[in-house]
Amino acid sequence: MSSSFLPPKISAEVRAKAVANAALSRRTRAEVKEGLSAGKLSFFQILNDPRQAIQRMRVKELLSAVAGIGPTRCETIMVRNAISPSRRLGGLGRHQLLALGKESALLKVDTPPGSLIVMSGPGGVGKSTITSALRTDPRFWVSVSATTRAPRASESNGVDYFFLSEQKFTQMVAAGEFLEWAEFAGARYGTPKHPIQEWRAIGKHVLLEIEIEGARQVRSADPSALLIFIAPPSWEELQNRLAARGSDSAERQAARLALGAAEMAAATEFDHTLVNSQVEDVVAQLVALATSHQVS
Ligand code: 5GP
Repeated sequence: MSSSFLPPKISAEVRAKAVANAALSRRTRAEVKEGLSAGKLSFFQILNDPRQAIQRMRVKELLSAVAGIGPTRCETIMVRNAISPSRRLGGLGRHQLLALGKESALLKVDTPPGSLIVMSGPGGVGKSTITSALRTDPRFWVSVSATTRAPRASESNGVDYFFLSEQKFTQMVAAGEFLEWAEFAGARYGTPKHPIQEWRAIGKHVLLEIEIEGARQVRSADPSALLIFIAPPSWEELQNRLAARGSDSAERQAARLALGAAEMAAATEFDHTLVNSQVEDVVAQLVALATSHQVS
């Protein structure tokens, strides 16, 4: 048999590392299960823990470790929420997560509510890249705004935005369903209030990526919100990024620059300014700020 059919040789060093990692994962899982059964940790604190060893645990394994939940109750909860026996924590969908948030057996130990984080900054500063990174982080839930603007080709309803008619948007404003709303570039944008409370209640930090007028409204509606401004490394850099965007007319580019300058001037109203030189650094700083802001 040719050597290319043989599995690659694993060095002793690699094998030792894998064994050590597996042992660490087992210890981590045992620790969280102990914390759960002793009532020291809530189910949701564990669910939101980003460590891979935890995210890869089966929901069943974690549920059955909760104090007061025996195999029958575990089975009932799994069936009621359509969670398959092999489902892992990291694979739970948003409806399942929110439904678990209503299971009384999981609410016996309080979960510290997640922080409300508002992120704003001038167009072209890289907010959407930061948001994308946090979408896959189990500690966060990224709010889905409503808007009256038309969807772009890559966007889908309920994921990027809820695309609403003018009439529906007006109805929601009148019914007080928005935490904030504002007009931007000829369309209206608003943050639905209800999901924010639900996600915070299960300990997720809720991230709003909104423009500055909306950020001001959130500040007055909820003074506990943490306002974070994302700034470019320099004004020149922002000009370059804006100029590189699209193939707009000179007037539109000038309008975008003027708007960018006005947006930059609002930075002082925010609690923190993070300079987006390196996306990973900004994301790490944002996670640290959200975590330290959380009231436990
Ligand atoms: P775009 O149309 O490019 O997706 O977004 C335009 C602007 O609207 C961006 O500055 C974005 O941050 C802001 N925006 C998105 N959703 C909301 C929202 O719910 N409320 C407010 N006030 N602004 C939003």
